[in-house]
Amino acid sequence: MGTTREPFTEIARLAPTHRGEQREGLGAVQNFLTRFGYLGRSDFTHGTLDGATEKALANYQAQMGLPVTGDFDGATRRQMTTHRCGLPDMRDGVAFATTCPWDRQQLTYAFDTGTSDTVGEFAAVRRAFATWSSVVPLTFVEVGTEDDPDFFIDWRPANDPDHSMVGGVLAHSDFPPGCSVITNSLPKPLHFDDSEHLWVNGAVVNGFDIETVALHEIGHLIGLAHSNVSGSVMFPTVSDDFTKRALTADDITGAQDLYGPATGLLDGVFTLRQASTGRFLDAHEIATEDFRVVTRPAQNNDTQRWRLTPVGAVYLIQQTSSQRFVDAYETADQDFTLVTRTAQDNDTQSWVIVHDPRTAPTTVRVQHLTNGRFLDAHETATEDFRVVTREPQNNDTQLFAFTGSNKVFTIRQVSSGRLLDAHEIASKDFRVVTREAQNNSTQRWRLTRIGGVYQVRQVSSGRFVDAHEIASQDFRVVTRPSQGNDSQLWAMLPADDGTFTVQQVSNGRFVDAHESAAEDFSVVTRDPQNNDSQRWRISPA
Ligand SMILES: [Zn+2]
Ligand SMILES: [Zn+2]
Repeated sequence: MGTTREPFTEIARLAPTHRGEQREGLGAVQNFLTRFGYLGRSDFTHGTLDGATEKALANYQAQMGLPVTGDFDGATRRQMTTHRCGLPDMRDGVAFATTCPWDRQQLTYAFDTGTSDTVGEFAAVRRAFATWSSVVPLTFVEVGTEDDPDFFIDWRPANDPDHSMVGGVLAHSDFPPGCSVITNSLPKPLHFDDSEHLWVNGAVVNGFDIETVALHEIGHLIGLAHSNVSGSVMFPTVSDDFTKRALTADDITGAQDLYGPATGLLDGVFTLRQASTGRFLDAHEIATEDFRVVTRPAQNNDTQRWRLTPVGAVYLIQQTSSQRFVDAYETADQDFTLVTRTAQDNDTQSWVIVHDPRTAPTTVRVQHLTNGRFLDAHETATEDFRVVTREPQNNDTQLFAFTGSNKVFTIRQVSSGRLLDAHEIASKDFRVVTREAQNNSTQRWRLTRIGGVYQVRQVSSGRFVDAHEIASQDFRVVTRPSQGNDSQLWAMLPADDGTFTVQQVSNGRFVDAHESAAEDFSVVTRDPQNNDSQRWRISPA
């Protein structure tokens, strides 16, 4: 706990070494290559850059996107001395992409010991689970440590008995049953090294972002191996002072190869009905009644309509009539009662929506992000039909059904404030542009989820957003009729501030727009640029 130590220090001290050379310190490199699957334990001469070691180095360099020299050179040293995951990149020197999917859709997890480095570490892991369940039809339900969880989450000493993390390893997990490298029995580990690293929430110098590392390790737990795509979540190394909390197209493709696409998106205005009673979530709107959340019979008015807004993979739940947000007392002396409050910039208003695989996509459990408790409701008038949070109970009082939707949005460029719009006639090439707000259907877009990615369809024309994929056509974004191919599919990748970058699935480029009239405010795709011209605010229209 506390401070981050330098990773792989013996490798950091080793001078460049070429084929045939002998150096005692090369043993540390050979151990590294063995530890992460590139080199067989008995295949090499200790301390000599022999043929087997050269081949393993070349394999490592190729996997990491480095120049392939087969030597221990400066670029290799830099890459090897980056903090990384404890699981191997190779099996017997061969890369493997995905492996052994689970044979069921509902998986459970429990927390043991957290870290003393920060607060909110469990909420960060819950968010990471929610991010994966937003792209594949898996649900992750938090249970107690005594409830036979599938995954056991713990912060541990570096000399972890089940898999040593001593050196530069941040964390480890394991693959699903049948492909295990740590244990053949449940629960599977998700272990963070609490001796050699400072754990934080956010980008902090010398600190490692818990959600970023959890997102990677959960990828293994569902069956993904390390990726060689730099910038993907499943790439094996991670830096301090850095966050990567959104999945990339590479990660999403890998997960959907195993499980197919996720079943539902909740984004818009809904009623929320308790499965056991059929009563609807409602709330008092006045202070004398404490803004308390209750259930009532159906009334067909806005006090029973709730706007679900995804913030990353978790949700805000806002009463349409009062504009107040569902919030929860977190203590027993207040009965864990739910109330509505005005917007507060903290996680007590954040909720994880856990789909129930038996009844997906519309029946869900609703978990409080910070206290881990589940939405539930008294079913009797004597208890005032009050809505509370409770520990998980495997019964219908904690199941709620969503009805309704509103998947039409405006899409606003953050840098210019202009809205996505499109010419609707062929002579103007159906070109997509940005315009000032006009409050009409040419600026309204229907987002249809196909797995973890989206089709984006203009409400007025019914045409789909597409993009030329070659420079000679300026990578221009246009609308076209439906074509059923990946050039019309877009990944919406959330940034931490609630905006999105929008990436074309077929070629990986990002939606961007000229900001000047001279260039017609044309929308194009570009390589990632990490600036506001590629960030878009997507709001219900
Ligand atoms: Zn890993
Ligand atoms: Zn462990």
